[in-house]
Amino acid sequence: MTTLRTGTAIIGGGLMGCWTALMLRRRGHPVIVLERGHVGAQASGVNYGNLRIQGRHPGQLPLSLRSAEIWEHLSDYVGEECEFEASGHLYAARDDAKEIAKAEDAARQGAAVGLTTEILDRAALSHRFPWLHGFTMASWSPRDATANPRLVTPAVARAALAAGAEIREGVRVRGAAWTGDRFRLEAEELTVEADTLVNVAGAWAPEVAGWFGESAPLFPGGPPQFVTDSLPRLIPTSVQAVDGSVIFRQTRQGQVVVAGYPRGVSDPVAIRAPVDARKTLHAMGHLLRAVPALSGATLLRVWSGIEGYIPDMLPVTGPSLTTPGLFHAFGFCGHGFQLGPGVGAVLADLVLDGRTATPLRDFSIGRFADGAKEAEHFRREFDVASVIRVDTPARGANTFQ
Ligand SMILES: Cc1cc2nc3c(=O)[nH]c(=O)nc-3n(C[C@H](O)[C@H](O)[C@H](O)COP(=O)(O)OP(=O)(O)OC[C@H]3O[C@@H](n4cnc5c(N)ncnc54)[C@H](O)[C@@H]3O)c2cc1C
Repeated sequence: MTTLRTGTAIIGGGLMGCWTALMLRRRGHPVIVLERGHVGAQASGVNYGNLRIQGRHPGQLPLSLRSAEIWEHLSDYVGEECEFEASGHLYAARDDAKEIAKAEDAARQGAAVGLTTEILDRAALSHRFPWLHGFTMASWSPRDATANPRLVTPAVARAALAAGAEIREGVRVRGAAWTGDRFRLEAEELTVEADTLVNVAGAWAPEVAGWFGESAPLFPGGPPQFVTDSLPRLIPTSVQAVDGSVIFRQTRQGQVVVAGYPRGVSDPVAIRAPVDARKTLHAMGHLLRAVPALSGATLLRVWSGIEGYIPDMLPVTGPSLTTPGLFHAFGFCGHGFQLGPGVGAVLADLVLDGRTATPLRDFSIGRFADGAKEAEHFRREFDVASVIRVDTPARGANTFQ
């Protein structure tokens, strides 16, 4: 049995784990990432690629803006561009008072934190985006962006490695505990001892939290995704219908990537994320109504992923309330690709400085003490029949003590 000693051990080699490792190494701190599969192979590598700031919960905006600043200088951090594109994001409302109010709200909240947003009426929409149909108005945020999720996490991991991080793939942590003067993590044929521990195990993170007597009402959702063959470049921005029925963008190579509500469920035990065929028909119907010019497109692939959702649609990010030196970041509710670099920077602040200037008050793991609250939009964004138990799960037991 090999025993490794380090400053910070990170459980999970997704976007959050790799950014945290890179940010810690940039400050000279020793770090080991333990990933049970491959770096970026779960939610971080299969997502839609939206780097949207507008329309977020107000409590997330400072973290989102911190992330945006890093995304906008991605190649300075990782030496690669990963198809980052400041494509803008159109949050588009149909002729419906509630939808219009939501788009106006998104623009107002963005403006309040310095995000440039513009309200486009029907005439302005059809002048700027003549291929888009069926929408009355939209909030337009030019700073919002997209990037290729297949490329990003491996690029961040390579940068972290080059900066001196140790990243072990194929290592599943089976249990961890505080021994009185350090954390001790057990994996098959490997023990890791560390001064601090970061739990960024994605949809599996509540198991890790359970080893330390903490819990969160996380459930594994599966947002459906679709992609067409390469088509002539038509759509220069990312578009999201306010009701979530369709979200789409076109890549540099010409494929149209599509997502949409309602989300399904995924299986974190079998590691499967199926997409019900009805979702494909539903999403394609909405896509063609929004962009009739795509009617000849071929749908090439359908997929989903395993994302951690919490009913209040906010993540857990911050210190453990039971164990000093332990930090959690999980349950990103379909928003974590954009937040990744900011989360890495915040976790590095917490590990090295014990505090961060980025407000985290809405993200405490302690907020579930009185039960899980549901965001107003929570049930609309999921198949109600498949919204599985969202009450606090039983605490996990340490597997090696
Ligand atoms: C289909 C889909 C579309 C999405 N679209 C967007 C989008 O457009 N924009 C956006 O901002 N966000 C989006 N998201 C959300 C975003 O992808 C996630 O929030 C983010 O990638 C979470 O990163 P993570 O590192 O926390 O989790 P993950 O990428 O899931 O990484 C966690 C890692 O921990 C590892 N792990 C777990 N347990 C252990 C253990 N015991 N030992 C060792 N390793 C372990 C897992 O193998 C996994 O690799 C989407 C998500 C999905 C699934």
